[in-house]
Amino acid sequence: RSIQYSFSTVFDKIIKRQIPAKIIYEDKHCLAFEDINPKAKIHVLVIPKEHLDRLSNATEQHINLLGNLMYAVNRIGKQLQLEGYRVIINDGQKGGQTVFHLHAHILSGENLPGFE
Ligand code: 5GP
Repeated sequence: RSIQYSFSTVFDKIIKRQIPAKIIYEDKHCLAFEDINPKAKIHVLVIPKEHLDRLSNATEQHINLLGNLMYAVNRIGKQLQLEGYRVIINDGQKGGQTVFHLHAHILSGENLPGFE
């Protein structure tokens, strides 16, 4: 039961269609939907369907999952005809991660400031 609980983040529930989301993209390995609290004009979250809580817990067994996640970002950029975007992965509480199901943020739709 405790194991099931640890898998039941809001994103796992979105995968199972137990809670609604504005889904904009889906393939065999990944799902993407609009962030509920957008930090840019376009703010999409891309998640692997398989559960991995955070990037730093990835092992060699997750290399395909990570590749599929980044390739989904590429497909979404094309689908939404984005001219440019920023991809962010927050890892762990100290990295600003609040939902412990790996996800990539795609920020776009405006001119994003570069790093100084
Ligand atoms: P993190 O801080 O973990 O990298 O990002 C979590 C993101 O998930 C936040 O940007 C937050 O707005 C978004 N989020 C949290 N709960 C939900 C939800 O139920 N639905 C959607 N669409 N986004 C969510």
